[in-house]
Amino acid sequence: MIDHVNTGLHRQVPQVKGQIKLRRSSQISYLGSVRFFKHLIVGVILVMLVLPWMAMAGVYSRAKSADPDITGQLGELARQQEALLQELEDYKSENRLLLQELDKARALYDFDSPYSQLYPELRVSGPQEYIDSKKVIYLTFDDGPGVNTRAVLKILDKYNIKATFFVVGYAIEGREELLRQIVEEGHTIGIHSYSHVYKEIYSSVEEFLDDFAKVSNKIEEVTGIKADIFRFPGGSVNSFNEGWGNTIISEMLSRGYRYYDWNVGSSDVAADATAGSIYNAVINQARSHSYSVVLLHDGGGSKARTVEALPLIIEKLLSEGYSFDKMTNQVKPTVFATGGYSRG
Ligand SMILES: [Zn+2]
Repeated sequence: MIDHVNTGLHRQVPQVKGQIKLRRSSQISYLGSVRFFKHLIVGVILVMLVLPWMAMAGVYSRAKSADPDITGQLGELARQQEALLQELEDYKSENRLLLQELDKARALYDFDSPYSQLYPELRVSGPQEYIDSKKVIYLTFDDGPGVNTRAVLKILDKYNIKATFFVVGYAIEGREELLRQIVEEGHTIGIHSYSHVYKEIYSSVEEFLDDFAKVSNKIEEVTGIKADIFRFPGGSVNSFNEGWGNTIISEMLSRGYRYYDWNVGSSDVAADATAGSIYNAVINQARSHSYSVVLLHDGGGSKARTVEALPLIIEKLLSEGYSFDKMTNQVKPTVFATGGYSRG
């Protein structure tokens, strides 16, 4: 039995040896075999396929390392975009404001007036708002430039006060320098009339506009200023303008002009006026108004009493805490109760 087993074992050994030999020879032959070349080719192809991916991975990692730069650039671009959008918004709102201004300007020109074709140069931009004139005194001098204008200017200069001059066209002739001095010293020039002849200027709208254009052009020619406020000769309510007064007022308001009557009369043109009466009239009335538009005269004859009263008026009102200023179209119009805007 044992032999048999041994024999069997012996028989098996060479068999195993043979198998090993077989394997060795098959390994050696693989290097030169078709299979080997097949595998080689497949391997090379695989390497060729993998290489580009590795290269891309390299690029990607480099790009990744450049990330902070790109992030910074993106942030900068976002800020620029933000700034541009803000700029666009600014332009839009600026545009809106300009359109509003245009609407206002159009409104000034769009009105149904049979006189709108007359003297088209008589148009000004009206006030956009009115200022708060609390405890302010507006001294106004009518009918100049005249023999007392220089003296009035000297007093105003001494107290460093600005005032308003409603001038007449015919009086400018020969006094052009005086008119320029009024402007140079910082006062306001308003229109009063060219001829100051009530019967003529209030006889029709055309006559009023004709006279107004003459004085307006004269002022502009001499001073370069286009006046935009005026005072009716005799005030907005007088016995000469009952016929055409309302039409003239509407016409002038629609052209952008503002007119001013007065709420403090000095009666300095009265035959029996004295420096004392002028002073008392002004001081007493000024105290009863939140702001005063004081009617005085520097032309239309000698007004020596006005010049005499002026420093006293100024000193008294300054001591009571009032301030003085020149008028602009932003001063709320002081018009007679039955005149102007409330006039039917
Ligand atoms: Zn006058």
